[in-house]
Amino acid sequence: MNISIKFTCSCCGKEHEEWPSLAFSSPDNYDCLSPDARETIARLEGDFCIVHHPAQTDRFIRCSLNQKVNYSCQDLNYGLWVSLSEKSYDDYLANFNNDNHETTYFGWLCNGIPGYNFDSSIPMNVFTQKGNLRPVIEPHESFDHPFVKDYYQGITKDEADRRVNQMLDLIEAIADPGKKKNISIATATVAGEAERKSKWWKVWKY
Ligand SMILES: [Zn+2]
Repeated sequence: MNISIKFTCSCCGKEHEEWPSLAFSSPDNYDCLSPDARETIARLEGDFCIVHHPAQTDRFIRCSLNQKVNYSCQDLNYGLWVSLSEKSYDDYLANFNNDNHETTYFGWLCNGIPGYNFDSSIPMNVFTQKGNLRPVIEPHESFDHPFVKDYYQGITKDEADRRVNQMLDLIEAIADPGKKKNISIATATVAGEAERKSKWWKVWKY
């Protein structure tokens, strides 16, 4: 499948194929729920997800991560979910339509990105953006994980192409009329059932 969009680059003036954003439609914590549980204890709406377990409530928001691609004019963008504390979640929700809301939260990564193994969540800084853009996340540099190393060292253009093609092979691309070059990924089709139930992610406990 080829859904790439050609554009004239403002950086080098050449024509490039634009990589699609590799976006997850929900956090793994939601994907692992049974269809019944999704109906009864969870709510997934736009950039927000909340799961009410008997002992705790987990809160997630959708963010954006830019993976640097070395010797390339463009980055590879990911749409990823993080879990937030109740305080941060409420603050983000209250300011969702506030164009000038700039703050930083702490969050845990809640999507298993293909090509990496996760046995615990990656800690993230979550930077809200002016102009109603999605918050941008950055992994804590001190956290020892291949994804964190790639983030700070950059990946090759071939690797970026490989990731895009891998995602396109793995998922059913859904054209999102609202946002060009956006692919929503049902995580369920990316990771196997057993893998999804391993629950490597961290959430906030009270
Ligand atoms: Zn260029």
